[in-house]
Amino acid sequence: MLQYFMSGVIFSSSAGKGKWSTWEGWERAMRNWEAGEVKIFDYKSETEVTVDRIVKPEEEYGKQLPADVFRIVREQGTETPFSGKYVDHRQKGIYRCVVCGTDLFLSDAKFESGTGWPSFSQPVSPLNILEESDMSGGMVRTEVRCARCGSHLGHVFDDGPKPTGMRYCMNSAALAFEGIP
Ligand SMILES: [Zn+2]
Repeated sequence: MLQYFMSGVIFSSSAGKGKWSTWEGWERAMRNWEAGEVKIFDYKSETEVTVDRIVKPEEEYGKQLPADVFRIVREQGTETPFSGKYVDHRQKGIYRCVVCGTDLFLSDAKFESGTGWPSFSQPVSPLNILEESDMSGGMVRTEVRCARCGSHLGHVFDDGPKPTGMRYCMNSAALAFEGIP
């Protein structure tokens, strides 16, 4: 638990700063975000499906999303620890991308990390996320983005519980939950 907590402290201390130091990199990545097909895993049908990548001007996202969500998913923001609606959320179901609805995490993979952010040991499928190196805030971290719309979701660390050993540290604002009976 201590290691999660420590990581949480380091993570939160970079909140806000990270956004600006990586802004150029993020802008470049989104400029190169091109129309095309992407294969993702659909949880309900349990099949891999080919869908169009979502490509939209940032101004459109600005109109579509509430300001607090936009700041996280389109400006690489980080929400204040323990502030998100899914930190202590324990219902059975699936967490999807708040922007495009891509399946991201099952409640079965959620665990108590003590960091103040919803934490998961693995995604629904590696197809559904992108993992990219993030050098912001004087740290080497791995950013996690949605494979279909490119939105920023959070970061992944290798100090999670067994068997995966991974900790997907997400922003609640980037997720939309649907209960599964
Ligand atoms: Zn998405």
